[in-house]
Amino acid sequence: MKVTDHIKKAKGETLFSFEIIPPVKGKSIKELYDNIDPLMEFNPPFIDVTTSREEFVYIEKGNLLDKKLTRMRPGTLGICASIKHKYNVDAIPHVLCGGFTKEETEYLLVDCHYLGIDNVMALRGDAMKEEKYFEPTNGGHQYASQLVKQIQELNCGNYLHEVIETDNCSDFCIGVAGYPEKHMEAPSLKSDLKRLKEKVDRGADYVVTQMFFDNQKYFEFLEEARKMGIDVPIIPGIKPIAVKKHLQLLPQVFRVDIPEDLIEAVEKCKTNKEVRQVGVEWCIHQSKELKEAGVSVLHYYSMGKSDNIKAIAKEVF
Ligand code: FAD
Repeated sequence: MKVTDHIKKAKGETLFSFEIIPPVKGKSIKELYDNIDPLMEFNPPFIDVTTSREEFVYIEKGNLLDKKLTRMRPGTLGICASIKHKYNVDAIPHVLCGGFTKEETEYLLVDCHYLGIDNVMALRGDAMKEEKYFEPTNGGHQYASQLVKQIQELNCGNYLHEVIETDNCSDFCIGVAGYPEKHMEAPSLKSDLKRLKEKVDRGADYVVTQMFFDNQKYFEFLEEARKMGIDVPIIPGIKPIAVKKHLQLLPQVFRVDIPEDLIEAVEKCKTNKEVRQVGVEWCIHQSKELKEAGVSVLHYYSMGKSDNIKAIAKEVF
């Protein structure tokens, strides 16, 4: 079922959902399921499965053939299929521009359709470690809005190189990313919001936000987005701080601010167990306020661990 239909069906009740990361290649999937299992009592209607890229260096007889061949790490699609089968909830693969030609994206989407996947999250992806800026793959997309357009076209039976008359078109519900504290490369929040509007105008059905620790940032973002005519659900994505080094790491990687009160509370902690508790309490407070404000879904970045998300969900749902 589509995310937008889950929201309609909930008739104003706030839904619980979360994001998981596939295990590193070759590692067991058991740990992932051990972390999903305890969260199922909160009835998530959908679970997001992230996608990461890795770079291959191709060498033949000592010659470097293709230094920048990047591919999706395995896991996302297989885990989505397995989640649907094992838990009977919708699984949402994250589909990236980076590392894919448009043709490869089309094949991936066709597979998603065959697997009965109703929603996809359309993202650009980050620059690879050694790149200063994001570089699109030859024959791939530069921006998520172009990917959204491709998915929408496919929903109408317009494949890249042919129009196929069929009664079996995909009808993907499309999610995109939004940034209450603006995307790191955007010159201003306003210009970033214009880009978000472009994604919605091209067919995105809902937005999931980058994490934030100050709800005011989300409320202001929502207000500005609505003023600009972005009228799709804007789902807040939140994450509990779990270790002291998140105080540096999260602002550095995601360009988000951490409120002074939270910094002070974390700095006072003597152990990471205490930090985890502070993170849980902060996130409970955030969640309750967002729920009271009537958000359709609270979406948690679990980073593969469920104990803290469970502690939050117990208090909020
Ligand atoms: P875009 O919407 O393309 O925007 C990227 C930048 O380009 C922005 O600064 C925007 O303002 C600017 N821009 C957009 N269009 C134009 C234009 N036409 N001209 C000039 N500038 C433009 N990354 C992963 O690798 N895997 C994941 O699974 C993943 N999941 C995510 C889930 C969520 C909810 C979020 C919020 C992020 C996720 N990311 C993931 C990270 C995401 O890929 C990065 O933040 C990436 O840098 C931007 O992706 P985007 O889809 O927002 O890009």
